[in-house]
Amino acid sequence: MIPFFDLTKQYESIQSELDDAALRVMKSGWYILGNEVKAFEKEFADYVGVKHALGVGSGTEALHIALLALGVGAGDEVITVPNTAVATVAAIELTGARAVLVDVCDDTMLMNVEQLERATTSRTKAIIPVHLFGQSADLDPIMKLAHSASRNIFVLEDCAQAHGATYRGKRVGSVGDIAAFSFYPTKNLGAYGDGGAIVTDNAELAQRVDLLRQYGWRERYTSDIKGMNSRLDEMQAAILRVKLRHLDDWNKARRERAALYTELVRTVTLPREMSYGEPVYHLYVVQSPRRDELVVHLKARGIGTMIQYPHTIHLQPAYTNLGYREGSLPVSERLAREIVSLPLYPELSLDDVRSIAQAVNEFE
Ligand SMILES: *Cc1c(COP(=O)(O)O)cnc(C)c1O
Repeated sequence: MIPFFDLTKQYESIQSELDDAALRVMKSGWYILGNEVKAFEKEFADYVGVKHALGVGSGTEALHIALLALGVGAGDEVITVPNTAVATVAAIELTGARAVLVDVCDDTMLMNVEQLERATTSRTKAIIPVHLFGQSADLDPIMKLAHSASRNIFVLEDCAQAHGATYRGKRVGSVGDIAAFSFYPTKNLGAYGDGGAIVTDNAELAQRVDLLRQYGWRERYTSDIKGMNSRLDEMQAAILRVKLRHLDDWNKARRERAALYTELVRTVTLPREMSYGEPVYHLYVVQSPRRDELVVHLKARGIGTMIQYPHTIHLQPAYTNLGYREGSLPVSERLAREIVSLPLYPELSLDDVRSIAQAVNEFE
């Protein structure tokens, strides 16, 4: 049996460091927005290569709060893609703005930049490129379009699947105006519960995020603006500080396993790696017109798979209001039918990768 993922192995590999961190927090008597969060924010900002990082409650809330900090609200439009976690679109709709969707490219499965221009209107306030599966979207043309003199559009990077990935030598999250990360347990950098972060070089935006995440408080009990409660807790921050020290090694292990799949697998379409950056393979996603049969074939051989994601957002019941129909965004719709994720995590043995590749190749 090879499960799709197994988070216990990661815990075992750094157990004493994690146990020490958790005990330190429990004994400290301080559990929300304290020294651990402050230290993690500094370390994570340094890692990404930005001036400011702010811990929040989840990746969804990171996207939502980042949009609010940019001033996005009712009457605005925000452009993103339909093949992403539903959170990306949910965060846009939570602000009252309208989500406008552009399709993705066949091979990279990332935002099709050529469709952006047409989707842009005078109401467009922000673009959210999603660095899906651990590979950066092509940010330069997106930044160029957004920041052209006639437009004043913000770029919010959705980095929830790409901690540590690079674009032209810079870490994702440091290219756009602001960026959102998730620390959901299965992400490349995962907490033991929910968590998220917003990063930016812009001090004013960082300040607004800081207020929004805690009741709009400039000082305790004085709300300057209308805010909410979305905080990273001390326990998760202490755990993330430990894990951040291992992130580069884990991402390297992911890339090695992905490279082995790419070398060995022959019977399905492999993910395309772009030369503009280094991906971190949050997922290894292959394509097959007979995807459902492939899943059954692998399951019969004890190999777990998952589909990220089986339904594009524009065809889901909650988002019919966006005004798209079947056929509106054909590449994303095809991908939803044809993609499947193979097991890929740092602790997966290379022998397991070889036997999974062999099992895929036995699928005729
Ligand atoms: C996981 C994920 C999110 C949401 O993060 P949560 O922490 O689960 O709220 C947003 N966008 C993408 C691309 C994701 O993969």
